[in-house]
Amino acid sequence: MNVRGIEYQHIIRRIFGEVKNYGREQIQVNCPKCQERDGLPEPDGKFNLEINTAIKKFHCWKCDEPRFYGNVSRLIRLYGSKYDYDEYISYSGVDFFNSKNNDEDIEKYIAPVRLPNEMILFSNMDINNKRHIEAYQYLINTRKISRDIIFKFRIGFCVEGKYANRIIIPSYNKFGDVNYFVGRTYLKGVKPTYLNPVVNKNLIIFNEGIINWDSTVYLVEGAFDALSFPINTIPLLGKSLNKTLSRVLKEKKPNVIIVLDPDAFKENLKLYHEIKLLYSDCPEKVRYVTLDGDNDLDEIRRLKGKREVINQIRKAKEPTDIDLIRASTIIGNNKKKWDWINIL
Ligand SMILES: [Zn+2]
Repeated sequence: MNVRGIEYQHIIRRIFGEVKNYGREQIQVNCPKCQERDGLPEPDGKFNLEINTAIKKFHCWKCDEPRFYGNVSRLIRLYGSKYDYDEYISYSGVDFFNSKNNDEDIEKYIAPVRLPNEMILFSNMDINNKRHIEAYQYLINTRKISRDIIFKFRIGFCVEGKYANRIIIPSYNKFGDVNYFVGRTYLKGVKPTYLNPVVNKNLIIFNEGIINWDSTVYLVEGAFDALSFPINTIPLLGKSLNKTLSRVLKEKKPNVIIVLDPDAFKENLKLYHEIKLLYSDCPEKVRYVTLDGDNDLDEIRRLKGKREVINQIRKAKEPTDIDLIRASTIIGNNKKKWDWINIL
């Protein structure tokens, strides 16, 4: 029988070591993504990464968030050397890797996030450099963020490169690796206000590395909100729960207090309901705060001080009956129902 793809199987063995069913069209190796995710020093020995050398596709049975699959060229490009890749291309003839959309896919789902090369930590800034001082003054004077917080959260800035004139607020995962960052301009009139890396946001928990799941966890909207109340606080980077955070909450069930912006009453309740469903046996652990007035946490702190932020958060509660009726109508994003009940 003619085994399709046999001519390049040795490249796969060179990259991954042990190959199951070597010499057949359907082979298996240990998945490097699984190894990375589980933080293992060695391959996991499970051979979950399936490769069909005839159709030149691969697929890991275990990786699901995100799924890890695609063309063999991509796999080799990711884990092999340039030599491996060039040799593979000489056999396979077609460079799938460079075909449309692939680069974007890889950036979105595969490539690790790295802080901008040009980033300077505030702890390393040059006080004689006007541009450094400009960035620093933005945080201290305009955002009213303290030095302690700036150093503690390893905040930096860029004066050149793609993220020039932006404050960089990094996020670290539980292994201490960067998993995201927020790039906020400190110059007036610059668009976009925020420039963040392109990643699948479903995969990250902002600052997961410093969250204590045995203590009360606060959920807020943005990174600056989190810096306003930096006590075990996770910025959602939006108003909804991503899949990873949802999974971790369900597993660890910490006390949760949701503090969305005052314009987000609906989303606040929706989130409350969503998390309560995850906490089937202990729904009382979930509470939320409706902020008074129109200001978000960051504005409250800047205008009225830290004490007022704490006062507001102390008012965390379970929703009233009326809140719940409102909430139940919006589950499932039933906008019509919601608009209707809101008029009453
Ligand atoms: Zn895998």
